[in-house]
Amino acid sequence: MKEKELALYIHIPFCKKKCPYCDFFSVPLKNAEIVEDYLKAIQQEVIFAKTLLNEFIEEKDFYFITIYIGGGTPSILPLSFFEKLFECLFKTLPIKPKEVTIEVNPDTFDAEKLKAYLNLGINRISVGVQSLCEKGLKELGRIHSVSQAVLSLEALKENCCNFSVDMIFGWKGQTLKDLEDEINTLLKYNPPHISFYELMIEEGTEFAQRYPKKNWISEEEVEKFYTLINDSLTSFGYEHYEISNYAFLKNKCIHNLFYWELKPYLGLGVSAVSRVGNVRWRNTRNLEKYINTLTEFSRPPLRIEEFLDNLQFAKEYIMMGLRLKDGISLERLRNYYNYEIHRDIVYLLAKQNYIIFEGNKILPTLKGWLLHNQVVKFLWDGLYPC
Ligand code: SF4
Repeated sequence: MKEKELALYIHIPFCKKKCPYCDFFSVPLKNAEIVEDYLKAIQQEVIFAKTLLNEFIEEKDFYFITIYIGGGTPSILPLSFFEKLFECLFKTLPIKPKEVTIEVNPDTFDAEKLKAYLNLGINRISVGVQSLCEKGLKELGRIHSVSQAVLSLEALKENCCNFSVDMIFGWKGQTLKDLEDEINTLLKYNPPHISFYELMIEEGTEFAQRYPKKNWISEEEVEKFYTLINDSLTSFGYEHYEISNYAFLKNKCIHNLFYWELKPYLGLGVSAVSRVGNVRWRNTRNLEKYINTLTEFSRPPLRIEEFLDNLQFAKEYIMMGLRLKDGISLERLRNYYNYEIHRDIVYLLAKQNYIIFEGNKILPTLKGWLLHNQVVKFLWDGLYPC
């Protein structure tokens, strides 16, 4: 395979406290020792990754154009962690970064930290605000307050031209008026990028036990919330470029576009996932095992999840592509993956306004985004090899 540009994800698994809805791999940070051990393990994995990629990538002049430090709560760690990590990354891997993002939480972030991040070469901050309403933060089990979130937003507005705000809607007790007020507060800070996710009840989380069914909100209400967000943000000048993401011109997240456009990415750290070419692999979700294996054997405890064939690629292309406003190209489906979709299915979905069928492209509508999984399933059922 010949792919030159890659995205690099690094997982930081530490948080102050586990949020009840969260299904990312994270553990409460107990002591500084584990941070040191984790740093050493990642440094070891970086060296391993270099060899691994050399085997996977025929073209030897590949390079990473994005680095995304996610979690967990990366901002919980001391700056020295990132200084050492970056030193190792830039020394070992070919990196020509266009975008270097770090996720931060309002309770572990301030203007001083922001300046230090920018000095390190980080050029994009993603802040986990989640709600700008005290009762929302409480319901979501977040440990920061609205005033802390506002302080973070003020620091970012003043000192950083590229930042993103993560928000959640659909929490128990939220009204349309709450949401409207939250959006109005948020827009005062002009974030160049906003991610607005619907609260999902994920298996294995505290919320899954507390609320086995998310029965406080109907599909019609979700539609009202989603439409309010879309209308408010697009009329403010944002492009709704992905099912849950909005950006001003030039502020789309380059890193996440790698996932949505099925480009190759490497994930380092416990629980991180990678896909290069047709191989997808995942590191263990056991922190101790991750550290011990790298310390003892200089390789990560990874597991190959799958070798994607053309049908899997075609399905993934439809699923990811229809998250994007630009949709999917039937030509790419045919030329890259050797699959077609039965036209009667496409026409039916278009007639019912779930998609727009334009030339060779299928584009999602707002109605289609609301029923994304069903639309995708329908199109999958219409796939046939050509
Ligand atoms: S801070 Fe973020 S990563 Fe950590 S538990 Fe909460 S939602 Fe999950």
